[in-house]
Amino acid sequence: MGLFEELREKFNQAADYTVKVTTDVTNQAKIRVDLHTQNVLLTRCYENLGRACYDHIKNSAENEAVIADYVAEADRLEKELCALREKLAALMGNSICPVCGKDVDETFPFCPHCGAKMPEKPAEPEETEEAEDVEIEEEVEEDVTEDKADETDDKDDNGPIDN
Ligand SMILES: [Zn+2]
Repeated sequence: MGLFEELREKFNQAADYTVKVTTDVTNQAKIRVDLHTQNVLLTRCYENLGRACYDHIKNSAENEAVIADYVAEADRLEKELCALREKLAALMGNSICPVCGKDVDETFPFCPHCGAKMPEKPAEPEETEEAEDVEIEEEVEEDVTEDKADETDDKDDNGPIDN
């Protein structure tokens, strides 16, 4: 019984991990598609903006309103791109450089693209640890009458998959 429970627990942990990794990869792919789409839209927006400015100056076209619209659109798209890049970096375990906005490995103290100092990483693995603790506590409560010793052993090696 103790051994079976332990195996089942390990299997569940492995399955959870697989689901999480698969979801992360799917999310990454989705974000990459979104990033590409937004980039295309932004390039088109700047093209239109450039043409509107050109006409405005060269041909004295009354384009202020159109130009303002394109500027607002470009701002909106830039913001969306920024948010998407941050999301992607978070999924990949990377950080975003506060200066140039590029993905930087989270272990790098400086951005390898522009040399800016990377912000200190906040203690991040808290969330998952908390979730695991809660799960384990529940398990302990369930089986507390029969398998107390086994469960305490489990608690000691409660790493996500590293066995
Ligand atoms: Zn940088």
